[in-house]
Amino acid sequence: MFKGNFKEATTQSANFPEDSPAAFGLLLRWAYFGKVPALCVEAVEDGVCRLSWPATRFYALAEKLYMPSLQNSIMDEVMGYYGKADSLPSTTTMCLMYELCPAQSPMRTFATRAFYFLIMHRHDKAMQQMWPLLELHRAMMKHPDLAFDFLELLREGTIPQVPDELDFCTFHVHGDGKSCSSGSSGNPIHLL
Ligand SMILES: [Zn+2]
Repeated sequence: MFKGNFKEATTQSANFPEDSPAAFGLLLRWAYFGKVPALCVEAVEDGVCRLSWPATRFYALAEKLYMPSLQNSIMDEVMGYYGKADSLPSTTTMCLMYELCPAQSPMRTFATRAFYFLIMHRHDKAMQQMWPLLELHRAMMKHPDLAFDFLELLREGTIPQVPDELDFCTFHVHGDGKSCSSGSSGNPIHLL
């Protein structure tokens, strides 16, 4: 970018107005240290957990820059976090996953699977209170793609499962069509 025929080569600066500064900070940190920091709860505000770094925004940036290995590492951290917390993303987070990531994005697949489980796991009263139907309906109205992906799972008769119980490779990018178990890519730390 700084050496080619781009305007950035003349100005020696680049602007990424639509990306979050925090996500760029995380990208630089990853470039220096070679690993994604642990994802944990930093604060609880009005009953909603705020995590130590913006995983969805960081993932969206990695996806935009086409960095599959980084995408997989972030996804492993996200899956590991929800698995340990025995929880699922808030409706706001699932909407953000749809807003920032393109169709066919593994992050969208993760959100759809969580969304599907929340609706199909119908006997859990606590879950119904935390994810009210009205809120889930609003999410479907706001993101028609989410409604479509949900219907697809429904029509296929998919068994409702929390995403972190599925093989992590379900949410990975494998350019060569292989899974991590065949040694292609990714960070298998949470597979243990
Ligand atoms: Zn994999």
